[in-house]
Amino acid sequence: MTTYHGYPDVRMYIAGEWCQGGTGRTAPIVNPATEDVIGEVPLATTADLDHALTAVEEGFRVWRATPVARRTAILHAAADLITERAAEIGRISTQEQGKPLTESTGEARRTAETLRWHADDARRAYGRIIPSGPGTMLTVRREPIGPVAAFVPWNFPVGGPNRKISSALSAGCSIVIKGSEETPATAMELVRCYADAGLPAGVLNLVFGEPAEVSAHLIASPVTRMVAFTGSVPVGKLLAAESGKVMKPSLMELGGHAPVIVCADADPVQAARKAAQAKFANAGQVCTSPSRFLVDESLVEEFTAEFVKAAEEVVVGEGLAEGTRMGPLANERRLKAMERLVADAVARGAELLTGGSRLDRPGYFFAPTVLTGVPEDAELLHEEPFGPLAPIVPFTDLDEALAQANSLPYGLAAYGFTRSAATAEKLSDELEAGILSLNHCGGSVHEAPSGGVKDSGYGREGGPEALDAYLVTKRVSHLLAP
Ligand code: NAD
Repeated sequence: MTTYHGYPDVRMYIAGEWCQGGTGRTAPIVNPATEDVIGEVPLATTADLDHALTAVEEGFRVWRATPVARRTAILHAAADLITERAAEIGRISTQEQGKPLTESTGEARRTAETLRWHADDARRAYGRIIPSGPGTMLTVRREPIGPVAAFVPWNFPVGGPNRKISSALSAGCSIVIKGSEETPATAMELVRCYADAGLPAGVLNLVFGEPAEVSAHLIASPVTRMVAFTGSVPVGKLLAAESGKVMKPSLMELGGHAPVIVCADADPVQAARKAAQAKFANAGQVCTSPSRFLVDESLVEEFTAEFVKAAEEVVVGEGLAEGTRMGPLANERRLKAMERLVADAVARGAELLTGGSRLDRPGYFFAPTVLTGVPEDAELLHEEPFGPLAPIVPFTDLDEALAQANSLPYGLAAYGFTRSAATAEKLSDELEAGILSLNHCGGSVHEAPSGGVKDSGYGREGGPEALDAYLVTKRVSHLLAP
């Protein structure tokens, strides 16, 4: 395999060995900032997947029998290596995915913190002793569920795979994870940190392949006991159905279409600045990205002017270039989706205030885009944009804005801006979302759970809840003197 531009040769990691897979089948890896092919990702054969399944089964036996203190020490050593290598991991991630280097390296550093949090939390995965009659002991224990099959997308090339890996391993499970074929080298470098920290062979296995083939095979296998997926709603529903067929629990972190409600008593300038900053992070390719801006009519002029100003100030360029605030979209599919959503909104009468098209240069660059007057039937108000598009919609009545916010099948993130405690409580009660941020648009934190309601999925990642999906509860009642 050829190495391009300092980009590493990509390998799978199965049973403690870096490998290329049985047939030598590969897919190209494209740098979205240049459209150049920068490498090739090996695609697993069925035999490779069976090898990974044998490894993950054996890995579970070994890891489960490893004392928790030893497991924690290995995971902390892996976190130290991620921190040490964050700059290099970030550089590789930016080459594959496009986001600015500051975002990539920041993601790698936060990833190490998430791993430390989960590893420490695993030491507190207590069961309980229930008072019962003399001569009996009634206990509830929490045990690792078993080998996990996980599937992750391309938008957070370090943080995405690490959420699954760190939760599974902290809970005492082994894991076989399919990384994204579009950002494989970052996943490989993340896995290398665990391997170099002394993780026993088979506990963590990384594969790539044809997504549908890999997921069908790993989910159907009796070896895997739990399925974890992050990605789009349609694929999530497919994998949840496949898991259901074999009675396997699953964790589904799916898409969203996050409303931002700016109430009449909010500061429109502050709200616009904070919302715009979050909107254009990772070029809008974040499942919790604010994506429908419902603004009280009395503030809409000021809010819109500030939002447009913020959008026009965003420096768009190659992620590796100094000063870049927004990189290209990660792939051509997103570029086409942006063009389609903007064309549809404009055809239905929306007004384009800034942006609206790809940049005139190689790479999948799309200008930060703001639209007003977007009619309710526009695709943009129904389909998750997953890109740098901001539709601003005025409202006159908060109850109507809440109804519009809740009208979609999604329920992941929501945002509200208000200075009134009573209005904040109303938003907290009534917004149908798993994650609500008031007066800010900050991202997820490892101390607290993230996850969706409705079509956005089920289960939680982050916080003490993160280990729940990877642990099973066992009741043991013991008659001491039979
Ligand atoms: P997609 O639906 O084709 O794929 C989403 C992810 O699922 C990709 O990583 C893909 O490799 C994987 N995938 C697809 N089919 C699969 C299968 N049968 N088994 C296992 N994995 C499979 O969409 P895409 O073009 O890659 O991304 C666009 C959409 O995906 C976005 O509009 C957004 O809704 C969603 N998305 C969500 C997240 C998230 O964090 N929730 C992340 C990335 C993409």
